[in-house]
Amino acid sequence: MEYDLLIQNGLTYLDGRFERLDVAVRNGRIAALLARDSGARARRRLDAAGRYVLPGMIDFHCHIREPGPQAGAGEDFTSGTMAAANGGVTMVCIAPDGHLLRNLADAEAYDTAVALGRRKAVVDFHLAASPMGFGAGALERLASRTCLYKIRMKDYPGPLETSVGTADTGILDECFAAIARQGKYCGIHPSDERYRQAVERRLRADGLPRSLAQVLPHLYGDEEMSAGAWLLAYYVRKHHLRWHALHCWHRGYLDLVRMLKAQGEDILASLELLPTNTLAAHPENRHSEELVRPADGLRIPLGHTAGPDWDAVWAAVREGTIDILGSDHSPHLPACYRPQEPFRSSAGVPGLDWYGHLLLNEVNRGSLSLERLVQVTSEAGARALGWYPYKGSNLPGTDADFSICDMDRVWTIGSGPIYTQSGLCPYYGRTICGKVTHTVVRGTVVMEEGKVLARPGHGRFVGPGYTGGS
Ligand SMILES: [Zn+2]
Repeated sequence: MEYDLLIQNGLTYLDGRFERLDVAVRNGRIAALLARDSGARARRRLDAAGRYVLPGMIDFHCHIREPGPQAGAGEDFTSGTMAAANGGVTMVCIAPDGHLLRNLADAEAYDTAVALGRRKAVVDFHLAASPMGFGAGALERLASRTCLYKIRMKDYPGPLETSVGTADTGILDECFAAIARQGKYCGIHPSDERYRQAVERRLRADGLPRSLAQVLPHLYGDEEMSAGAWLLAYYVRKHHLRWHALHCWHRGYLDLVRMLKAQGEDILASLELLPTNTLAAHPENRHSEELVRPADGLRIPLGHTAGPDWDAVWAAVREGTIDILGSDHSPHLPACYRPQEPFRSSAGVPGLDWYGHLLLNEVNRGSLSLERLVQVTSEAGARALGWYPYKGSNLPGTDADFSICDMDRVWTIGSGPIYTQSGLCPYYGRTICGKVTHTVVRGTVVMEEGKVLARPGHGRFVGPGYTGGS
């Protein structure tokens, strides 16, 4: 019997360990795990000698700009998922945001986005929906479509049904009750909105010249984010909401998550990989955070110097307080960054092109083990969201999604192609150790050594009750 693909001589993840097993693929699924030199015949062989075969990495939190007010300008499903493939990612969970993937608050908007993704994505995808249409009965119709809601705890202008969040605890109370009845997770970016406004007032009053580099270190801090999380927690516990605790990287927030988990609340805590958390290895970069576009040398100063205590954060990943990871890939157009108008500027950065590689570098730095990396990039989230074992495992019969990793490769970021549409890189020039050499989605090699090979339309939508594609 001939297989479509045989991945040979690698160390393959199985049941929490790496084993000397070849992986045989047929019709997009893992057909068998074979002893080495089994003599199996295959149309294509991939030699993974000295490499690790991980279940495909899932980015549990990222953004694109389609559909939206500037649909596709800056990132559409194709460029965003090509960047994912380049970063070793086989599936993305795309989240709504005010001006990125906007307004997934009703079934019609959701279906439109899914149709676009089916036509244009190169890796598999899920879409988190906004629950803010709950007052109009939208949640009932979203239930069969989405596995995850997401909001931002922020005062958004405009009618409730079209927003992607609120800081109004009266509305959050009702919203959480509605989501809890469905038993779905809700991702929330916590923020004490009044505190944030006070920070802004103080900064405006101090008379200093204002720039992103001067303002950003004062935002997204422990007070603003942890205080928001503690405020949320009352309503989370009241309704036993399944809480996807986004951006869990401050001590106060981590303490809260530890406490609620110990009390039996169902919390899926996530850490998003941002430029600040690779700084420890590059202290010389600490005050020169900038976005660089290698193609033409464009440089945008950002000043993301407000680094959380990453030693505490990685400890929380190792001990299991943090369950899953995401890139928070935020692909803004260069014009969206206004370094001299920091309160009107975008601040998020692209990340997908480098996501898996940077995580392997963290493994090499001792931040987490390769086995723990599999759990937090794949297994744990797939279990929580109902896709396991079809996603998140290397078990026979499931999707043949793999991130094949060379842990010893030393290379410099920016030396290869960049697929995010803006071409902006927050890690330009950094030398790291570890590289995802191949991204395989349902048996198709979609990235090989930094070249994305798959065509738009290869990506599938993964929704509730997923039992594998082919
Ligand atoms: Zn985000």
